[in-house]
Amino acid sequence: MSLPGNSGPASAPGRRGRPLAAFALGLALAAALTEPRPASAQVPASAGAELPAAVSVADFAASIGAVLSIDPLLGTVTIVSSGDRVAFKPGSPWHLLGERPVRLAPGRTGPAGPVIEGSTAAYLSAWFEERRAERLSRFRVAAVLIDPGHGGKDPGAVGEYGAGKDRKKVLEKDLALSTALAVRDSLRARFPDRRILLSREGDTYPSLEDRVEMANTVTLGPNEAIIYVSIHANASFNRNASGFEVWYLNPDYRRTLVDSGTPGVDEEIAPIVNVMMEEEYTTESVLLARSIVGRLDASIGSVSRNRGVRAEEWFVVRNARMPSVLVEMGFVTNEAEARLLADPAHLRRISDAVYNGIVDFIGYFESRKGPATP
Ligand SMILES: [Zn+2]
Repeated sequence: MSLPGNSGPASAPGRRGRPLAAFALGLALAAALTEPRPASAQVPASAGAELPAAVSVADFAASIGAVLSIDPLLGTVTIVSSGDRVAFKPGSPWHLLGERPVRLAPGRTGPAGPVIEGSTAAYLSAWFEERRAERLSRFRVAAVLIDPGHGGKDPGAVGEYGAGKDRKKVLEKDLALSTALAVRDSLRARFPDRRILLSREGDTYPSLEDRVEMANTVTLGPNEAIIYVSIHANASFNRNASGFEVWYLNPDYRRTLVDSGTPGVDEEIAPIVNVMMEEEYTTESVLLARSIVGRLDASIGSVSRNRGVRAEEWFVVRNARMPSVLVEMGFVTNEAEARLLADPAHLRRISDAVYNGIVDFIGYFESRKGPATP
């Protein structure tokens, strides 16, 4: 960014967004924050009261829509549903739930095939259901919005390098756009099934409100998230200032993410959901920022100073209801760095690093709720 002051305190354009979707996301986030119950808590409470009837494994598998296979040599029974797998051998109390061994009432081999006790069937059924619910609560990054800063009438920061008539100008808006286009192309190639969007594709000037509104109006499913990466170059009155940094939303700032007027939202619950969503977004934004800074450090850390991850309340990220960061690629007001930023090979390393940082984050984001078992 060139002059953060011109962002100013804004009205809340995000209010015209999608409060219902935001609320659904909030509920999912709240669910995601809840740790899975320990295994002992899954034992059906009724198990001791009255022994449920034994059931054939074939009937059990059919009742939960799972696929059954029996190893003809070892007699090992495997039940697979949506990628979740249970395996056991009749006669043994050990049942492998995913990769976790659990002691349950042993099954036996009946005249028509393997049979399991009712208590075991109830336990396994609850386990499959829990795995299914957890899978549904997991997030997917459905969209990435890359926002090249400035553009059109707004050049952003302006730097110069070179001597005499060879002196060249470097405009932040141009650096931001070429980096953003490269990041967009790499992400589209990597994730053809996700929406990879740009806030501008040419030398135009969407207002800051337009950019945030664009992010907030992307249609998302209840378990889908969008991440927002704004790309800038830095400026300072201190001509020696140099290096890259990534900003994220200041955790002290509290946004109103859920309108208390949203139908179905209890007025007393909305503020709680707000806080949970806020904290979750902040955490995600920090992680995204760290991912990108780490990749930048590995890529250009030898030629540019790593100024690290920083927190602020810039308008661009403040009103976006999603993990959001702002990348400052370097200082155009530092002549050596302006020259570096004007080098397409250097800019390519930056765009590759931003791309890899986003890929790292998506990988983490979508697998962190991943259980210890496959
Ligand atoms: Zn800027």
